[in-house]
Amino acid sequence: MKETASTRASSKTSAKKLPSKLQKQLEEAGFKKLTELLLHLPRRYEDRRNPLVFEELEEKVSQPVLAQGVVERYIPRFGGGRRWLEAVIRVPSRLPTPAYIYLVWFHKFIQAIQKGYPPGTEIFFTGKMQRFQSRLQIVHPEMSKESGQKLGFGEIIPIYPQVEGITPKKLRETIRFVLDNHLSETIDPVPEEISKKFSLVHVSEALSELHHPTKWNPTTILDPLSATVNPYFKKLVFDEFFYFSLGLEKLRKDLGRELRHKKVARLEWKTEVKFPFELTGDQVSSLEAVKEDFKKDIPMHRLIQGDVGSGKTAVAFSALIQCAANGHQGAMLAPTQILATQHFENFCKFFPEFQHQAVLLTGALKESLKKEKRADVKSGSAQFVFGTQALLSRLTQFDSLALVVVDEQHRFGVEQRRELASKSKIVPHLLVMTATPIPRSLALTLYGDLDVSVIREKPKGRGEIKTYLLRKKQKEKLAERLLSLLSGGHQAYIVYPLVEDSELLENVESVTESFKEWTSLLSPHSVGLLHGKMKAAEKDLAMNAFRRGEIKVLVSTTVIEVGVDVPNATLMIIENAERFGLSQLHQLRGRVGRGAAESVCALVVPDEITPEIEQRLNVVIGTNDGFKIAEADLVLRGPGDFLGVRQSGSSAFKTAHLIRDLKTLEQAKQAAKELFARDPELKAPQNSYLAFLLEATSIPTERLRSG
Ligand code: ADP
Ligand code: MG
Repeated sequence: MKETASTRASSKTSAKKLPSKLQKQLEEAGFKKLTELLLHLPRRYEDRRNPLVFEELEEKVSQPVLAQGVVERYIPRFGGGRRWLEAVIRVPSRLPTPAYIYLVWFHKFIQAIQKGYPPGTEIFFTGKMQRFQSRLQIVHPEMSKESGQKLGFGEIIPIYPQVEGITPKKLRETIRFVLDNHLSETIDPVPEEISKKFSLVHVSEALSELHHPTKWNPTTILDPLSATVNPYFKKLVFDEFFYFSLGLEKLRKDLGRELRHKKVARLEWKTEVKFPFELTGDQVSSLEAVKEDFKKDIPMHRLIQGDVGSGKTAVAFSALIQCAANGHQGAMLAPTQILATQHFENFCKFFPEFQHQAVLLTGALKESLKKEKRADVKSGSAQFVFGTQALLSRLTQFDSLALVVVDEQHRFGVEQRRELASKSKIVPHLLVMTATPIPRSLALTLYGDLDVSVIREKPKGRGEIKTYLLRKKQKEKLAERLLSLLSGGHQAYIVYPLVEDSELLENVESVTESFKEWTSLLSPHSVGLLHGKMKAAEKDLAMNAFRRGEIKVLVSTTVIEVGVDVPNATLMIIENAERFGLSQLHQLRGRVGRGAAESVCALVVPDEITPEIEQRLNVVIGTNDGFKIAEADLVLRGPGDFLGVRQSGSSAFKTAHLIRDLKTLEQAKQAAKELFARDPELKAPQNSYLAFLLEATSIPTERLRSG
């Protein structure tokens, strides 16, 4: 988020300017307007108000300290080819005799310091206290002549997350500058009655108190940036959630408007769908719920939540077939080509009688083929449409799309619903399937008005998955096991981590290297390679060959993570397991244990790992319950991973924390709903600014997309 409404500056900005170089640096760092800096909130605070006396300083060796004193004299030193400067500082003491500590500088500072702080000057200084021989000293202290805001001495100072290219001190000063000169430009768009109802302070007070606490003491609170204890922080969290909720409400209203001229398809349960296995009780009850939804004249919006391997696909297929039996089209969207292909092929395998009415539509298809298939979709002759997000492209039109299934993509939002609704003369029902155990309240917030079905039961006759921790040095054993398993006709995955985008190339190289090693080690068994840099067609080729059993071992990055289903694979080797999030490990492990045979998941780690890492991995080893693992992940890593965002920390919200600030989220949602209920068009004068914001900014929808 680069901008929120509350920092929208009025156009007549005339106050003092920053030096142009600094301004440029800030712009490069993503702060397009000065006031946006005010949303760069402190990470924590440091109390620099009470300088310590000598006896206290003595107790703080090797710790950062703040002290106050008078420069007695300077001692220039030479030795060992070096020049340095020592200052003797008299500091207050509990005893009547004077006490001294030393400040030390090397090299270039020497002249400037002696000039700037002549003997007799009263100074504040801070730095790490050291004991050197019998004396106390600080090397290269941060210092200032008077107590005052410039260096932050004599007050509680904010410590900010770093901004590239700007020193912490400069950043602190700059934000303070903006606070002093531009705070009045911030407008609070939250209507007064809402602020009153939820006891919200004005946005400028909130910003001021967070950057420069005067009415509260952050150093006495354990977690000062928590909306439950801090009214200033709460205000910003509330605002963020409030805009988000308003955006959601507006989208829903627009959706409603669009739906008004269209009919919802009422679907009957017309046929019996037969699988080669008996459905589990939870699969049956999920289908019962869908059946009920189909009868209503509002579109279904249901989330099917089920751990990896619980058999969500069967539920989707059944629903699609019922839909077709009513004479309508159904579409199933997957996040990757591989998955879309798998769904398509499994569908055709389970239901050969329908294969001529089924099409696969992915971005990888040749243009001419795509055109052909789109024509079938448009005419309605394709009743079962499988594909990736490309299905949503403007070019694809349906004849009468009545059901959309979205697999493994819990980011699917209201906006896409609207987009789909515009593609067909009727309003489609929506079924979202996810293996991510999102708490219900959170799911509600992210999706709006949805119903949830949970599949807890695993299909019967499943072999157990045993999970082991293996040091690198034990890998030979693993190779042996792998070979014997291959002779038994089974298959295996070997997964390597993909750490960061910047490392993508390197990573591909190392996976390719490993692939070669495994190939010679396991010869004559065939080994395949799969990574994100491969062309879609190559990926499909490898994946399909693995699925058909032509490739016995698949060496891969996490591309295979979600949804891939090869029941004959019984060994999952995860290299550098310490680099994965727990939920991700669980997802990967879920690729095996899909058949009747016993399966093994090996977490391979370096020979030396910290006890913390071992403890973390033990969670995955100790349980097969995705919910429990997600909870542990949440505690250990924050909600980023929890919500399916790989790199933790990249949440859709800048200030707010979905789990920690849940209560504020509920309040903001309530406020947004009430506001729209009372003033659906946002016509009241007190709401006009909000209306403007919702028109002018795309924040809420952007957040939907990335959230
Ligand atoms: P997920 O919920 O992770 O998407 P899938 O739908 O891919 O799981 O199902 C996993 C495997 O279990 C598939 O091979 C599927 O055919 C099989 N399966 C699904 N339901 C049952 C069942 N009731 N009994 C036996 N096997 C089942
Ligand atoms: Mg699946």
